[in-house]
Amino acid sequence: MIKGIKGVKDILPEDTPRWRFIEEAARRWADRYGFVEIRIPIFEVTTLFARSIGAATDIVEKEMYTFPDRDGTSLTLRPEGTAGTVRSFIEHNRGADPVPQKYFYIGPMFRHERPQAGRLRQFHQFGVEYFGTPDPKADVDVISLLWRFLSELALPDLTLEINSLGTTADRAAYLPILISFLRSRIGEFCDNCRRRIETNPLRVLDCKVPGCRAATEDAPQLVSHLSPEAKSHFDDVLSTLAVLGIPSRLNPRLVRGLDYYCLTAFEITSSHLGAQNAVGAGGRYDGLVELLGGPPTPAVGFAAGLERIAMMLPEKSVPQSLPSVYVAAFGSEGTQAGARLLDALRQAGLSAQTDYRATTLKGHLRQADRSGSRFAVLLGDDEAKSGSAVVRNMDSKAQDTVALPDLPRYFLSLIKGF
Ligand code: ATP
Ligand code: MG
Repeated sequence: MIKGIKGVKDILPEDTPRWRFIEEAARRWADRYGFVEIRIPIFEVTTLFARSIGAATDIVEKEMYTFPDRDGTSLTLRPEGTAGTVRSFIEHNRGADPVPQKYFYIGPMFRHERPQAGRLRQFHQFGVEYFGTPDPKADVDVISLLWRFLSELALPDLTLEINSLGTTADRAAYLPILISFLRSRIGEFCDNCRRRIETNPLRVLDCKVPGCRAATEDAPQLVSHLSPEAKSHFDDVLSTLAVLGIPSRLNPRLVRGLDYYCLTAFEITSSHLGAQNAVGAGGRYDGLVELLGGPPTPAVGFAAGLERIAMMLPEKSVPQSLPSVYVAAFGSEGTQAGARLLDALRQAGLSAQTDYRATTLKGHLRQADRSGSRFAVLLGDDEAKSGSAVVRNMDSKAQDTVALPDLPRYFLSLIKGF
């Protein structure tokens, strides 16, 4: 037997209603904030990700699915959506448009990580990217979109954590201070962090290893080394969030794993998720468009993990959609009339099915029951001849005789209320 790949999951029919519910909510909230959908490719040239995400990040160091194309070009399955969106933005010269470009995407991402609850190798993200304005209110739009979306889904115990990563100059001034602090305690760090002190020192601050956390407890904080410009941006974000009634918590350790962030960085977590507690994360990335060869373009965005949302979504939130009408047609004239009736019901906009393996009334009623249909139409040769059939309410067992041509209208008014 050939099995699926480790960390790559099937989403089975019993789970797709939950997924569709989440995706529909995501689209609805994106629409309310004026974000339009973009569908970017699932693979790109490797240099796009290496250059944008940064060489010394977890993703580029060890998580990418990279393979040579037949001509030798190195390609990579997208590990996230921002790089591809920015590439597309530049390639199609969208920056020349006088209106701000606000995009959202929903789709699979690929990272070679150790599979566990809430961490897969193929997973799905809903993300937004807001191009063209440095205004802190744009950061708040992006944060509040994610917050309102997750709140509407009634996910438990959401917390918004926020930090400022300062400007490039702020970080350049702060990094030597941080590095000398980290070097002074080098013996206390895990192997990974010891290496990161030289390659990506900010990441040491969000290492989950208890010893590393203790060693950085009183590390100098970036948020207390902000320039007046970065400080005023951050204050504006915080006060606007307060005006909107969105509670936030300053987390000076929040640095984000990707190189391209500046100023605002945020994460929404839930205590119900265990170790993998981040539902969504994002921030400002003002230098990225230029870094990838486009015009200087400030931008801010987030990405949220749909698997983690699906795991937490309360069962009762997902609307059940049961099949409506089961057509129990039998006998030679009955089955002919049944084929016509199924077609008429479907064309009228109703959900109508049958089971062709059943050939008797009894067999049909058993399948009607199993299918969970609300109504069954009993249609044998006699009914076909007389031109009317028996409608059975599967719940109450009440029956009604209805002329065949009237059935679509009959069910529309019963089921859809018109
Ligand atoms: P983490 O710290 O959990 O590894 P990350 O910083 O790598 O997160 P991002 O790149 O910011 O994550 O991705 C945004 C969101 O996508 C995460 O908050 C999470 O919900 C989801 N996500 C990331 N990686 C995975 C994965 N391997 N499996 C499932 N969901 C994921
Ligand atoms: Mg990760």
